[in-house]
Amino acid sequence: MNRRQSAPRLDFEAAAIYEYPEHLRPWLEALPKQSGVYFFHGESEAMPLYIGKSVNIRSRVLSHLRTPDEAAMLRQSRRITWICTAGELGALLLEARLIKEQQPLFNKRLRRNRQLCSLLFKGDKPQVVYAREVDFSAEPGLYGLFANRRAALQTLQTIADEEKLCYGLLGLESLTRGRGCFRSALRRCAGACCGKETQEEHDSRFLAAMERMRLVCWPWKGPIALEEVGPTMTHYHIIHNWLWLGAVNNLSEAADLLRTPAGFDHDGYKILCKPLMSGAYTITELNQ
Ligand SMILES: [Zn+2]
Repeated sequence: MNRRQSAPRLDFEAAAIYEYPEHLRPWLEALPKQSGVYFFHGESEAMPLYIGKSVNIRSRVLSHLRTPDEAAMLRQSRRITWICTAGELGALLLEARLIKEQQPLFNKRLRRNRQLCSLLFKGDKPQVVYAREVDFSAEPGLYGLFANRRAALQTLQTIADEEKLCYGLLGLESLTRGRGCFRSALRRCAGACCGKETQEEHDSRFLAAMERMRLVCWPWKGPIALEEVGPTMTHYHIIHNWLWLGAVNNLSEAADLLRTPAGFDHDGYKILCKPLMSGAYTITELNQ
């Protein structure tokens, strides 16, 4: 059989397997048109099959039911539940927390617990460092947050190309003593490696470019509350050192959540850095 013949047969098989999940209909009626986190549960009471988030739980869940690619998950699902949040931020934080804790079978996309890395620069050659090696919440010489070492080095190379910096002096390639690098001959390196510019000139352009992507350390003395006002409710997100400790309805309930996090929380950092730094939310410092 050639390829042309086999393709339609696969389509037919997928269509035959997918059937609208009638057995989930009883749960659809009550789905709220609000932001929050939703759960597809199978036979197990303890572990959901899938956890998702949306600013509109109802429309998002309905779109799952119409997705043939998710037929296997839908067939195994027995019921749907949800938790409403004040807004999108609360949904993001709660989803990330629950997926990490429960690792549902069908959340493959987010299952890997990736180790993010950053660039450490203290005047010598920049180094790629991981959150397990360096305390990201306390080290002031960190620049950028990257998915992996390759992405960090790629950024370093892009900066070098834009600023005509020397790959050799940045540690991206080795230099032969007494000779300029290959890129300096092509004028892609301004020549700090062969005396055409000083190390200081080179480093100041490098620092200015790095400064634009500096990793923000935790800028408060202790924990804070971020107020998220939604159409039907207001939540206070209690956060310390980029770790989301939970959400409460009143600041008076915050004390129950307060604890000192063990270290830098990169999931929290990724979700919270922009909202916390944007000035768009009311932030209250909490005394411990
Ligand atoms: Zn050079």
